[in-house]
Amino acid sequence: MPDHAFPLRPTPTVPVEGDKPFPVRRILCVGRNYAAHRAEMGGDDRDPPFFFCKPADAIVPPGQDVPYPSATSDLHHEIELVIAIGPGGSVFGYAVGVDLTRRDLQAAAKAKGQPWDAAKGFDHSAPISAIRKLDQVGDAKISLSVNGAVKQSATIGDMIWSADEIVAEAGKLWDLQAGDLIYTGTPEGVGPLARGDLVEGSVEGVGSLSFRIV
Ligand code: MN
Repeated sequence: MPDHAFPLRPTPTVPVEGDKPFPVRRILCVGRNYAAHRAEMGGDDRDPPFFFCKPADAIVPPGQDVPYPSATSDLHHEIELVIAIGPGGSVFGYAVGVDLTRRDLQAAAKAKGQPWDAAKGFDHSAPISAIRKLDQVGDAKISLSVNGAVKQSATIGDMIWSADEIVAEAGKLWDLQAGDLIYTGTPEGVGPLARGDLVEGSVEGVGSLSFRIV
């Protein structure tokens, strides 16, 4: 007799270079975190970073296609550095991720002051590369191309809040534990994706990912 009404689902995992897979506990994401976006907003205050979440099973491991999601006609790419949290809330390593966004639903939610869950936390909304075990990421280039055309290109040094600062800020709001992933925000150049598009992203020294929208 099983112990549950239906079988427990396997925990989503992300490959780790040179180590066993990383079991995902939850996914935190940071809103606007690049200077170009701050400039667009016309402000120069360092407001605390704001966070939203995706479910752990939104992860798309390396090598898998991404189905075009339901209920949108404006799916957007956002290339992001991802922090992987290890035991005791320490930094376990880093990866490259794409925060897929239903931009039309996000705009509607913003207009009504509603939460972003449907815009951000949908199925298959968090493609990710393998995790590389690093202590720090320097001022590395971060970029994304669609069908070979560069759409986003910036450097990690453009982030308003550094990776360490984001971990510290998130730690004020949540008890960070092993398995947490933090998507750290995207630079300018976000844009739409269509079925058939090949998306390739990278952060120098961290890794790269590619997937196709199907
Ligand atoms: Mn994002």
